[in-house]
Amino acid sequence: MVKNIEQENSYNIPKSMKAWVLGGPHEIKMIEKDVPEPGSSEVLVKVGAIAVCHTDIEVLHHGHPAMVEGEAPFNKDFVMGHEYMGTVVKTGPNVDEWQPGDRIAVEVHAGCGRCQKCREGMYTSCHNYSFRSKDHRANGFTTDGGFAEYAVNNINTLVAVPDYLSDEVATLTVTAGTAMYGLDVLGGLIAGQSVVVAGGGPIGLMFIAIAKTLGASPVIISEPRSDRSEMAKKMGADFVINPLVEDPVEKVKSLTGGIGVDFAVEASGVPDVVNQVLHMTNRGGKVCLAAFSNGLTPTDLAYVVSNNIYMFGIRGEGNSAVRRAASLLNQKRFDPSPLHTHTFPLEEVDTAISYAENQTDGAIKVVVKMS
Ligand SMILES: [Zn+2]
Ligand SMILES: [Zn+2]
Repeated sequence: MVKNIEQENSYNIPKSMKAWVLGGPHEIKMIEKDVPEPGSSEVLVKVGAIAVCHTDIEVLHHGHPAMVEGEAPFNKDFVMGHEYMGTVVKTGPNVDEWQPGDRIAVEVHAGCGRCQKCREGMYTSCHNYSFRSKDHRANGFTTDGGFAEYAVNNINTLVAVPDYLSDEVATLTVTAGTAMYGLDVLGGLIAGQSVVVAGGGPIGLMFIAIAKTLGASPVIISEPRSDRSEMAKKMGADFVINPLVEDPVEKVKSLTGGIGVDFAVEASGVPDVVNQVLHMTNRGGKVCLAAFSNGLTPTDLAYVVSNNIYMFGIRGEGNSAVRRAASLLNQKRFDPSPLHTHTFPLEEVDTAISYAENQTDGAIKVVVKMS
């Protein structure tokens, strides 16, 4: 095994770093924290850029789905943030899969590698979720994430970033992986199948881009905001529906010869919309539930049963989907760059989160870029 100690040493890794950590609910602050040490099968990443995700906002206010050793993540100097990219600067013992200097983006979940679900490859549904003591790692959710100068990653969560992608845009690799995973869970898309996406947030827009790239037709979005539906067109949507202006179910039916789509994706998190997407789906069609919604969701199950509709919940970006999404990026098969709308320095993570949360100034993907 060749280990490039010389290159590793050239990075002058400091003892401590700037990191944004959770205080109590709604509270995030910048502190000095020890630079973590990579263990076996791990590397140290110097973070280059990190995007704010809607789930970060959930974590900030409610803790869930972040947890540390089975407890809420508050007041534990826990570093949020999971959509980052950077450079490998140090490798753990026995690691030769990656070298210092490699430019990478990350998957969130490494899982534990020892529970039944991880053994089945479903590492985003790990039974040891949040227990670092059982080797679980999901950066920014259960182990320290990327709103910091450095982060440790399992080697299985790294994907190479092509040179042509900027740091800011490379942070969207994991978002693309989530959309890829959703389509995988539905059983994979066959070119020419029809897709509707409800909700034009970053995940919904990425579903549009990936579905189009994989040959879906037609690709339809239902989204009330005009700036978002314009963005959906840029990402490849063939038709946009404003559900406040026209009946989205009727419109989808009329665009699909009266029968509904093969695949429907619920990416809005709005409870009523779940029923809409069910009714947009063809008999025997498949529905992907990709958004976290708070509270119970009324659902027309009689319609689901009588029309043999399949419903799938997805969590994160399993099945090595990030790697395959990165391959599409590497082949320049789609361009996610319009989704990146704002950039802030590390010192302004709180402002970046607030921009993403309030969609200030048309914000879609807000990125924090290290200096
Ligand atoms: Zn995310
Ligand atoms: Zn596991």
